[in-house]
Amino acid sequence: MFTGRTDTPCCLCGQANTDSRIEVPPRAVTLMENSGPIAWQDIVSPVTLQFCADDWELVADLALEMGHHPLSRCNVAYASFDLREDFEALLNETKEPNQTELEARLRERSREVLESADDPMTETRDLVEATVIEVALEELGVAEATAD
Ligand SMILES: [Zn+2]
Repeated sequence: MFTGRTDTPCCLCGQANTDSRIEVPPRAVTLMENSGPIAWQDIVSPVTLQFCADDWELVADLALEMGHHPLSRCNVAYASFDLREDFEALLNETKEPNQTELEARLRERSREVLESADDPMTETRDLVEATVIEVALEELGVAEATAD
């Protein structure tokens, strides 16, 4: 399995010193800059985005005050994620990575965070991440997972 870069820079300005990171579902890369060549269906991990301290302030304001995500300004080249290898894709031709399961898991976690938004123990970072995930999945028209 290809492991994404470990020295992930700020996905907004590209500088190496980062302050905060969030994880978003693979499908969210389609909302990002330069996502054209990436087949999000082949991403087998959550997508990690890092932000430098300055940009993190903007991202936090955007999410918490305006209920919006910064993804359209994030460069996918600066994101970190695991892609399945070509030979894995060939071997498992009929077996796509289960994005629905991953999205449901991230969304469930986000919901829990948003529900405890008033709890003083809830971290701002977690709230920002939860908001970004919620807004992005909504924008992508991902249906709510139904319990079965
Ligand atoms: Zn930055």
